Amino acid sequence: MTLTQATSTKLTRDALAAMDAHDPLASFRDKFYVPEGVLYFDGNSLGAVPKTVEGRLQKAVTQEWGDGLVRSWNTAGWYEMPRRIGDKIARLIGANAGEVVVADSTSVNLFKVLAAAVKLNPSKHVIISEPDNFPTDLYMAQGLIQLLGSDHKLVLKPAAEVMDTIDDDTAIVMLTHVNYRTGAMHDMKAITAHAHEKGALVIWDLAHSAGAMPVDLNGANADFAIGCGYKYLNGGPGAPAFVYVAQRHQANFSQPLAGWMGHAQPFAFDWKYQPAEGIGRYLAGTQPVLSMIALECGVDVMSEADLSLVREKSLAMADLFIQLVEQRCGEYGLELVTPRDGAIRGSQVSYSHPQGFPIMQALIAAGVIGDYRKPNILRFGFTPLYVSYTDVWDTIEILSNILHDRTWEKPEFQRRGNVT
Ligand SMILES: *Cc1c(COP(=O)(O)O)cnc(C)c1O
Repeated sequence: MTLTQATSTKLTRDALAAMDAHDPLASFRDKFYVPEGVLYFDGNSLGAVPKTVEGRLQKAVTQEWGDGLVRSWNTAGWYEMPRRIGDKIARLIGANAGEVVVADSTSVNLFKVLAAAVKLNPSKHVIISEPDNFPTDLYMAQGLIQLLGSDHKLVLKPAAEVMDTIDDDTAIVMLTHVNYRTGAMHDMKAITAHAHEKGALVIWDLAHSAGAMPVDLNGANADFAIGCGYKYLNGGPGAPAFVYVAQRHQANFSQPLAGWMGHAQPFAFDWKYQPAEGIGRYLAGTQPVLSMIALECGVDVMSEADLSLVREKSLAMADLFIQLVEQRCGEYGLELVTPRDGAIRGSQVSYSHPQGFPIMQALIAAGVIGDYRKPNILRFGFTPLYVSYTDVWDTIEILSNILHDRTWEKPEFQRRGNVT
């Protein structure tokens, strides 16, 4: 049964099971470990673990680190990993080999490209972003401006006003492609083209895009991008992030975190910094090898999947989710904050509800893991490689019971942990 057939009739669990039976991505579920009894809708915050990770890390610990010791930098390919995995990620985001390197965290990478972009556009001083961009991006920008001691200004405008705010004074437009809270997606190509017309450079944060959908950085003529390894790329908690710099910008400057791994010849141990050719200069210090090994497993699984099928299934699951919430939970005050139009939505669906926090805690206690974002948002991420259509059905079943029975009123669901 196709989605259109399914949605034209009253939805049933059987109809969704039939969609699972014909799902071209169904075989991927077995490549991940998802605990029994868990319905996982938080792969947009921490992706599930690919089954290859355990054996691969075991080998890295016993053979590469254990037996190989320091020799493994050469013999086990450790030294090349940032560029090698970068090239693999490049294929997922519409970049060329040599335009992406894996390093550090998303926050640190943003600092590097923002500093680089500021230098490339010295006559202008306005950096445009959104007030509800992911806070770390805004914090890093504030930190850099303070460090520069210059008259750079961070101007924050709601998403809908960004286009019209870009003008001849704009140095840099710094946006997250898919908003972490609402799931709304920017038109990367149109914004980049408009910014270039006005002489501005654009930095795209792909934290909620890479591995979630086809991205075409080169097609959009993008300047810089950064992104996250532990969300849709399934690289593990705190996995290293990535940074993309368009070929045309690579030779023009160096980024300020000029560590020895970004030097042209780290093992020449020369006192004078000389940046590596190309994307390698975006490395700073020694990279976490074990974390990179786990990340490579995640990127390898993602590379086997056709991202257009991933996107198609993600949108279909989210459409079903929205429709089922309407049918089954309509009277409980959930308000959709994600665009209904799939063309301007990422891979998540968010609802606001005055009791968003305790409702999410009750869901988690019942085995549905999504998450909560301030002020009152319930967030459900869709990761088509290991989440099924029937998972969507079962989640709505649990959600409607919680809302109907007001289970969320229990005191244990009001308590907040350090991480939400
Ligand atoms: C998750 C996320 C980050 C995370 O940054 P880290 O430095 O990896 O902690 C940054 N930006 C956005 C938009 C995110 O969604």
